[in-house]
This record gives sequence, structure tokens and C-alpha cells, in this order.
Amino acid sequence: MRVGIVGVQGAVSEHEEMVRALGHKPVWITRPGALDDISALIMPGGESTTISRLLESTGLFAKIREKGAGGMPIFGTCAGMVLLAKKGGAQVRKTQQKLLGLMDMEVSRNAFGRQRESFEASLDIEGVGNRFPCIFIRAPAVMGTWGGCRPLARFGKAIVAAEQGNLLATSFHPELSGDMRIHEYFLAKA
Ligand code: GLN
Repeated sequence: MRVGIVGVQGAVSEHEEMVRALGHKPVWITRPGALDDISALIMPGGESTTISRLLESTGLFAKIREKGAGGMPIFGTCAGMVLLAKKGGAQVRKTQQKLLGLMDMEVSRNAFGRQRESFEASLDIEGVGNRFPCIFIRAPAVMGTWGGCRPLARFGKAIVAAEQGNLLATSFHPELSGDMRIHEYFLAKA
């Protein structure tokens, strides 16, 4: 199947390789019309403020929101997780970045502090498997969920993976780990 990867900024090519390795066709998404030809969408990591702005200027913002609300599977990693959230913490309020607001969760950007800006942890992820190598890079964390959103993994008290029906979000970067289990789990939704 054709799997879209939002290609306006950030870690796009690593997702592309994983999608291809799983036997699907990766498609870079840079304009709204392209969203009609895909079965699932990945929103990569990068800088959520920049990605949000670019999504708006390309017209992707409204259309991704519409597709996600209409049931298209969307997977957000890191900055992509921030964008999927309905509510942002202090940093999101400060930068006044627009969130897609599709998942019932509150995120905090750069939640792991300066001394731990980048690190790796082996975590168990419900439904996906155990000891997944999770790479965190200035990662967000989910501070709380409500409604239909379900936490799938935790690092200490922080929720670092969550799911809501067709929507999946991780604080970390599974595309950098060589472990394809999360991508496989996500693509099974399509
Ligand atoms: N810190 C970035 C943000 O809040 C996310 C970092 C990432 O995607 N690796 O947008």
C-alpha cells in the first residue's frame, strides 16, 4: 500500500526506508491533494513549531486534520506526537503553535530536560512488544490522557507512547532504531 510521510521538515528518509523494508510504497507528502492517494500517514520528528507553520502554509494542516478525524491511520513521532495532541503544556502556549488536536492527550515539549536531551531506553510497549530500543531526542512526553486515548508505554512517570483508534504517537524515534515492530503495528491499522 501507499504510505504517506509528511515531507515538509524533519526525519523523513528514515521512515521512508522502514516503510519500504516492510514492503510498502513510501510517498512524500508536500501538498494536500496527495493525502487522497494514501492508506496511512506518518508525521516525522523535527521542530513542531516549524512543521506546524509549514503545514498551514501548504494547506496540509486542515486536510490532515480532516483525514485523521475521518479514520485515516496517522502515526506521529516526537514533533509529530506534539502536533497530534489536543492540549499543549507551557511551551506550546508560549510559542502559540497550532496543534492538529486529534488525540485526547496533553503533551509537554522537551520534557526530559537539558541533561537528558538525547538518550536511549529499552521499554515495553503494550501491544507492540517488549524491550523496544527507544531513542529520545529533545523528546516530548504525554502528561495526561482522557477520553479515547490509551497510554501504551511509560518511561518513569512520563507516558511516551499512546494510541487512540486510528492514531498512534511516540515520544521517541522508532525509525532510527532498526526495530520495525512499531511501524508494523501501525501499518496493521490500515
Ligand atoms: N523538541 C522538538 C519539538 O518540540 C521535537 C524534537 C524531535 O522531533 N526530535 O518540536
